[in-house]
This record gives sequence, C-alpha cells and structure tokens, in this order.
Amino acid sequence: MANVKTHYEESDVLIVGGGMAGTGATFEARHWGRDLKIVCVEKANIDRSGAVAQGLYAINCYMGMQWDENQPEDHVRYARNDLMGMVREDLGYDMARHVDSTVHMFDEWGLPMMKNEKTGRYLREGKWQIMIHGESYKPIVAEAAKKSANKIYNRIMITHLLMDDEKENRIGGAVGFNMRTGDYHVFKSKTVIVAAGGASHIFKPRAVGEGMGRTWYAPWSNGSAYALPIAVGAKMTQMENRIVLCRFKDGYGPVGAYFLHLKTYTQNANGENYEKKWYDHTKNLVGEYIDHHPTPTCLRNHAFIQEVQAGGGPIHMVTKEAFQDPHLETVGWENFLGMTVGQAVVWASQNIDPKYTNPELTTSEPYVMGSHATCSGAWVSGPEDLSPKEYFWGYNRMLTVDGLFGAGDTVGGSAHKFSSGSFTEGRLAAKAAVKYIEDKKADGIKVSDKQYKDLKEVIYKPLENYTVGRNEITGGTVSPSYISPIQGLQRLQRIMDEYVGGIATNYMTNENMLNRGLELLKWLEEDLENVGAEDYHQLMRAWELKHRTITSQCVTEHTKFRKETRWPGYYYRGDHLKLDDENWHCLTVSRRDPKTKEFTMEKVPVYHIVDEKKEKKAS
Ligand SMILES: Cc1cc2nc3c(=O)[nH]c(=O)nc-3n(C[C@H](O)[C@H](O)[C@H](O)COP(=O)(O)OP(=O)(O)OC[C@H]3O[C@@H](n4cnc5c(N)ncnc54)[C@H](O)[C@@H]3O)c2cc1C
Repeated sequence: MANVKTHYEESDVLIVGGGMAGTGATFEARHWGRDLKIVCVEKANIDRSGAVAQGLYAINCYMGMQWDENQPEDHVRYARNDLMGMVREDLGYDMARHVDSTVHMFDEWGLPMMKNEKTGRYLREGKWQIMIHGESYKPIVAEAAKKSANKIYNRIMITHLLMDDEKENRIGGAVGFNMRTGDYHVFKSKTVIVAAGGASHIFKPRAVGEGMGRTWYAPWSNGSAYALPIAVGAKMTQMENRIVLCRFKDGYGPVGAYFLHLKTYTQNANGENYEKKWYDHTKNLVGEYIDHHPTPTCLRNHAFIQEVQAGGGPIHMVTKEAFQDPHLETVGWENFLGMTVGQAVVWASQNIDPKYTNPELTTSEPYVMGSHATCSGAWVSGPEDLSPKEYFWGYNRMLTVDGLFGAGDTVGGSAHKFSSGSFTEGRLAAKAAVKYIEDKKADGIKVSDKQYKDLKEVIYKPLENYTVGRNEITGGTVSPSYISPIQGLQRLQRIMDEYVGGIATNYMTNENMLNRGLELLKWLEEDLENVGAEDYHQLMRAWELKHRTITSQCVTEHTKFRKETRWPGYYYRGDHLKLDDENWHCLTVSRRDPKTKEFTMEKVPVYHIVDEKKEKKAS
C-alpha cells in the first residue's frame, strides 16, 4: 500500500456522518466551542446524504410547547407506550425538552413550514408531526453545518475508530479512505461524535433481483454507527429491537400522512377491519399492552402479519374515499413528491390511481435504527439532572468509551426522535463533547504511528485480495480465493433472514435458530478476510459489508438474550412467544471484547422517571 497517499488532520471535535444528527452536532459544536477545531466527515456529500437525502414531508417530532400542545413528559409517555415500556426516559425527556428550539431554527433558516390558516401555528399532521415542504430539508441543515465546521470532508468512509495509546478506553480519532481518490485519511481528535445512521440490508429485503436496493430505510445506511463503537468495546443496548414497517407495497411510500391527515384506513381483501379480529389473540400474548392508546406500532404489525398468514390478504389502504376530495388528493400525491417519488412511479407502472383503486400495503424486512419507532443503539450517559446513577457517567450522550459520543440512530433507548430529534441529539452530544474538552478530559492523548499504519494495511486488504486472486480465475468471474462484496452481502442477508427473524420465517426465530445464525455469522466473518475489491467503490462495499456483519452479530446476540417476545410484529421468539414482564421488564446491554470478539450480555433496570418514579427490576 506504499502508493496510497495519506492525509493527516487534527481536530477537537470530529463528527462521523453528516446526516441529521451530524449536522446538528457540527452546528452546536461551533456554538459552544468558538475557538475549537471542528471537522465533519461524510461518506456521501452532506448536501444530500442520509435518510433525509430526498427530503421529507413532515417533521415527526415537535412538541409545540409554546402553545401547550404537548410537553416533554407527554412524549416520554408516548414513546414508552409504543416501545412496550422499554425506553430510556431520561434521554427521551432530554431530547423532547430541546426539540422545539431546533425546529424554530429550521424555520428561521428558510425551511418552508406549512401553517394552520386559522391558528397561525404550524400545521399539525398528527399529535407529534408538523407538515413541511421539505424537499430541501437536507441542503438547509447542511448549510448550517458547512458554516460552522472548519472543514467538511465528503466522500470519505470512516472504517475504524482510533484509540488513545496512553489511557485505556479513551478515544483518539478515526481513519477512513476517500472513495473517489482512494487516499487514506487519518483524523486525530480529542473527541469523536458518531452519527452514521442506522442499518438497512442486513436482513434480506423483499426486493431482490431486478428490484435490489429498493428498501424502506436508506440503502446506504450500513450500520457503521454500531460497528465503529462495537469494534472498540463500547456497550450497546436494545439491539434486538429491530423495526418492521407497514408501508405501500414495492415503493415503501410513507403512510403517516395518509393515516393521520387523509384519515385513510386499512382493510383485508374482504373489506373487513381485520385488526379487531386479532384482539383476543394479541391479548393472550402481551396482556394489557393491547389496550393501550395509541396501539403500539408492533402490535398493529402483528395483526397485519396474522391476517395475511390466515389467508386474509392482500391488505389494502382505503384511499378511494379520501381522494374524492381534491385537496386531500393533492396532499396524497405531494406527500410522495417531497419524500418518495418512487412510490408514484410504482403506482403508475401498476396502473394504480388511488382515487379509483385501493393500493396494497406490506410489512417490510427488518431494519436496525435508533430514531424511529425503535431504539437500537449505543448505551450512553444521560443528562446530569435527569438520569439515575446507572444511566449517568459524566457527559451527556457519551458512550462507555471516554470521549466517544453518539447521536441520532447511533443512540439506543430513545425512540421517536426522527429528523428533528436526531438533529437535537447531535446538538446535545456536541455541547457535552465541548465540555469534556474544557474539563481537560482529553489532555495528553497519543495515537501511535503504528496504530494507524496497521489499520491502513487492514483497510486496503480487499484491493490486494482482488489484485492477487484474479490471476487464479480460469474462466468467468468467480475466483477460487476471494468473494465479492455482493456475494458476501447476499450470504449475510440470507443468514439473518432465515435464522434471526426475517421475512422468510415470517419474523419467527428461536434459540436453536439463533445459535445456528451465530455460527454462520462467525464463518462469514472469517471469510470476509478474503473479500476482494476491484476498485475504490467496491472497497467501500467491502467495508459496508464488514460493518453490517458486526452489527448483525450484535443483533443476533441480543435477540438470543431476551427470552420473551416483547414486540410481536417486529419479531417472534417461538420458544418464548409471550411477553414476560416478570423477568424481562428491563433493558438489554451488550459488550463485545475487542480482543476476543466475544459478546457478554447483561440486564439493566428500566427506570420510569415520568409518572411512576419506582424502579421495576428484572429478576
Ligand atoms: C424512509 C424514511 C422516512 C422518514 N420519514 C421521516 C419523516 O417524515 N419525518 C421525520 O421527522 N423523520 C423521518 N425519518 C427519520 C429521519 O430520517 C431519521 O430519524 C434521521 O435521519 C436520523 O438521523 P441520523 O443522523 O442518525 O442518520 P442519517 O440522517 O441517515 O445520517 C447518517 C449519515 O452518516 C453517513 N455515514 C454512514 N456511514 C458512514 C461512515 N462509515 N463514514 C462517514 N459517514 C457515514 C451517511 O452517509 C449519512 O449522511 C424517516 C426515515 C426514513 C428512513
């Protein structure tokens, strides 16, 4: 690798990923750290990167505290209910109490917000959502980050975190490579904020072959947010809590505005309200949780999945009634224009006009993320004024590695943050990172030349594998000594799909299947030493795959650990089909030893700090 050029950068705050959380962190780091060096590194281009790249039609998390529409405690109750009790209420409350100020800045920065003509307030789509003309949402927040950072690096994929060689368990920076030039980049930094989004494509998607790449969650989100911290021994939480979405079939078009604003509803193939049919069955599994309002997202999925399995499909969204109103018809279409144009194209190709035909819905393959109706991610410290002692170790949103912070999809336990909440969490993490530096906690960090030189060998090895291995090919493209990133990805997706609760088994798994999945993942990990990359783009694919694989191992370990079915509709443990509050009303936390690569698991109490101050301990 002698011919690869190396670039060096030193910073105070290094932000990995310039999506919603990363732009929020970059902006806020400058606010508190006027003289600090702030650098943001992004795999794509921050103007159009991350889950909000195409734009959004609604900001899904806005309290409206100024009009007393909602208060932070209301949001905690909402998220707790939706996640069947399992959230970090300190983190959720902390995000909720700050999120309105974030949205007000978006408004000032020129994001077109829809207004309620009668009240003059932001136009509500639902209790938490406000409507925007959001095609340019991402460029607007990117501009704030660009004005705040000393430097933004686009097209660099971070593959590893650097550790301090002087003090154990302290961060030292990160390394990665430029996908266009192939250059190696070494970022030494006093603090690192990981904001690299969630994980799609770890489970086999419904769309394969000609439709490959069409997923609900952004296809370029590859779990770096989890793999980077896991690899250096940071603790993770709730990684079993993967999310399954009910969306319009094939295009994954969003259904929120349809349900909430257009007041559409679903029915089975016979025109029946199937959700009611599954009430007794669901109550038998989860008890009183089925009586909660609103019905938790996973339980609505559960009714959908059961109905289809019982032969009542396809399930349709009834749009024909709402679309008779020209205003609602316009809103229905615009909803896709600002967010998922592909859904309109799918309908056109299948001759579906929702004014005359009720479109079909489906449940998606599972995804791993921390900001939607799910809360997988890193185990972080909460804020000083709210967090119980198990949840607090000095700096808000700091992981269990000193100087390493997280925000957005990276952070576990805090669901329903969405775009605005992720940006807000980035702000909170950056403020804490600056304080960490001011408190002199980052003094004397040393990163040896050896550390990043060794990593350089590791990072470029797939190019080497290809260059050498291709000479052994005697016909076609299949090499006896390397696998391509796409071959590895398809193998990973099949393991996760068939053993860890994907669509192949209707989201069902059990301990035996999980053990087999772990075994196959281990062998995949070994074989990934022999992944080959023919160019820098494929090198990125190789590293995305490696990150997806570590994330998948963590998901599988967590799924095995929680011996109950807490979220039917997201996944099922066939050997423990019922929710078990007696033993599992707790958060799950894992740590992978960086040396042995073995995971250890623990239960941590879930504290209900809103309403009931009492702790419910798992036995
Ligand atoms: C289909 C869909 C619809 C949604 N609809 C709404 C909605 O209507 N309203 C709403 O408020 N929210 C919505 N959300 C949620 C919102 O998009 C997310 O909550 C938010 O984007 C999460 O922010 P994040 O910064 O964690 O991740 P992202 O915004 O995805 O940013 C992650 C960034 O990290 C970069 N990255 C990844 N890996 C690396 C690496 N190794 N090195 C460097 N950079 C890297 C990525 O390129 C990306 O830019 C939706 C999400 C999805 C997927």
